[in-house]
Amino acid sequence: MTVRVRIAPSPTGSPHVGTAYIALFNYCFAKSHGGRFVLRIEDTDQERSDPIYEKMIMDALKWTGVSWDEGPDVGGDFEPYRQSERTAIYRDHAQQLMEASHAYRCFCTADQLKSIRNERFKQGLSTGYDGSCSRLDADESKKRADAGELHTIRMNVPAEGTCHIDDPMRGDVQFDYSVIDHQVLLKSDGFPTYHLANVVDDHLMKITHVIRGEEWLSSLPKHILLYQYFGWQAPIVYHVPLLRNADKSKLSKRKNPTSILYYRELGIVPEALLNFLGLMAYSMPDGQEVFTLDEMVQHFDISRMSLGGPVFDVQKLTWINQQHLASMSNDELVQRVVDWRLSPAFFAKLMPLVNKRMHRLGDFMQLCDFMFFSAIDYDLESLIPKNKEQDETRDTLQLFVWELEKLTSFEESHIETAFNRIGGLQQWSLRDLTGSARIAITGKKVAPPLFGVMEILGSDLCRNRLMEAIEKLGPLGKKKLAKLEEKYRSSN
Ligand code: GLU
Repeated sequence: MTVRVRIAPSPTGSPHVGTAYIALFNYCFAKSHGGRFVLRIEDTDQERSDPIYEKMIMDALKWTGVSWDEGPDVGGDFEPYRQSERTAIYRDHAQQLMEASHAYRCFCTADQLKSIRNERFKQGLSTGYDGSCSRLDADESKKRADAGELHTIRMNVPAEGTCHIDDPMRGDVQFDYSVIDHQVLLKSDGFPTYHLANVVDDHLMKITHVIRGEEWLSSLPKHILLYQYFGWQAPIVYHVPLLRNADKSKLSKRKNPTSILYYRELGIVPEALLNFLGLMAYSMPDGQEVFTLDEMVQHFDISRMSLGGPVFDVQKLTWINQQHLASMSNDELVQRVVDWRLSPAFFAKLMPLVNKRMHRLGDFMQLCDFMFFSAIDYDLESLIPKNKEQDETRDTLQLFVWELEKLTSFEESHIETAFNRIGGLQQWSLRDLTGSARIAITGKKVAPPLFGVMEILGSDLCRNRLMEAIEKLGPLGKKKLAKLEEKYRSSN
């Protein structure tokens, strides 16, 4: 048997360190078994998926050094590797399940579903669907569908009994079927949900082992049922512990930068990022803390993976980065720094922002120093515009961060629109808002044009610097945060 594993990211946001973390273990497992590593793009969520994110995820993963043998860009025997190009396959499989009475059409509207949920909640039952449409007469169901009535396709789940899972990392894990929802498999737009597409593709792509995040463990009973319904052998599934913030909550960008691009821009080298992510759920046989990807592959043994809640500790990452930098030759280091920020290509991007401001060539560095620093320094007071309060400044910058997070393209003109919108919402002049943001992002009162600077720094670094400024301005308690979120939501 050839080992075949995959990662299946959904292109719905900036490339997350969690994706690199899961990719790393899949890669090591595949390489240590002489197997194949597949990249599949799970873009069936029409509203949230964007090809921009797909490209960003692939570029970021390539940068880490984790490479795949099959995928949308490199092809392979099981094409296409993008789920949005496989919808006919899923529809066909949903149909097969219906014919075997393992699935049924559900005509319930959103309002009906809501009242079913409320009713079940009142009765102390699980708030999933009550299965009423599964009792519809087959002819009537077909007639309504033929007449064009909108419907989804749901899977049947036994009303009673227990699903036992022999989890390779956790032992026997049990789920009562009574709490498992009749999952929608095919949405009314004809697109599959994650569950159907994921199971069908893992089977058709001959995936032998699934290594994925722990957040999917609760989906496994549904998946196992689907494998049984289709009469397929399920792969062996490992659920790797989630990366966590220092307070042990699930790693979130509110508390920690989560984008791979952020760490790249910060000057973390890819081997250090992978090394650090490896340590999150794995230990080398000799306890070695600093290692390369090749060394990890050489010694990889999946039974050494651990279940603890690994804390994403940026200080530790920085220490590991330092160890990798220190072990590089002079030539190598020169090359790394040049590639990072000293390339002619990078300078060419900066030059139009400063060319009219330089008196001597040496002014260049002074004008742009904030582009190269890991941390910038400024006084708290300088963040607060005249006639504005500290709290108000903090709230305004937070609103601005949310507005920036909505941008799929971080171009000057979009950044400007974001400034205008939040300025309008807070009744702040553009001058006050850019003044405050300029200090947060450059540490300077006078700097090259801010929108251009932000475009070059990129959304992740800008966001992080703004978050640091918000932190400086004082904590935003839960209540205040909720109020502010409400204000932001209702302004959209
Ligand atoms: N599309 C899922 C994700 O974004 C894949 C989960 C899995 O590996 O099964 O994480």
